[in-house]
Amino acid sequence: MNESFFDQLLTKIKSWGRINSPWVIHYNSGSCNGCDIEILDTLTPRHDIERFGIKLQGSPRHADVLVCTGPVTRQSRERLIRTYEQMPEPKFVIAVGSCSLEGGVFHGCYNICGGIDKVIPVDAFIPGCPPRPEAIINGIVALLESLNAPTAAKPQDKENVEWIENAA
Ligand code: SF4
Repeated sequence: MNESFFDQLLTKIKSWGRINSPWVIHYNSGSCNGCDIEILDTLTPRHDIERFGIKLQGSPRHADVLVCTGPVTRQSRERLIRTYEQMPEPKFVIAVGSCSLEGGVFHGCYNICGGIDKVIPVDAFIPGCPPRPEAIINGIVALLESLNAPTAAKPQDKENVEWIENAA
């Protein structure tokens, strides 16, 4: 059945609202806290991420974007899945830090399931150990731009990740 004009208009307005005011929730599935500190720094007025309409949200039921750090430990696996499932559609996942890609320095540990995409689908990868706030902002903005233009490439393809040098 074809969507009515009203339904199409409503979908466009919802999409416009989501892109201009994405609410994010942060989940640490086993990180050393280095990436989490950088995310906190990103949220401070110094970097002013609210200029993109981005707001930290405490409940997954109100969040559009799940920002994950660290590898996935066996202990946090179920909680990560539950958090993801509680988010409303459409939802997006950003994996921050090299541990969230493949396990990083924790790769091969007995209690690690692997990167975030071993457990839930990931839309954007932001490599680095830890990535700087500028790289995190760049990744989020690239994801938002890709939502605006569905044919555009996603910010980071895991198969072709460019490692960002963290200059002192
Ligand atoms: S990527 Fe580096 S800073 Fe981030 S959780 Fe892993 S070890 Fe820690």
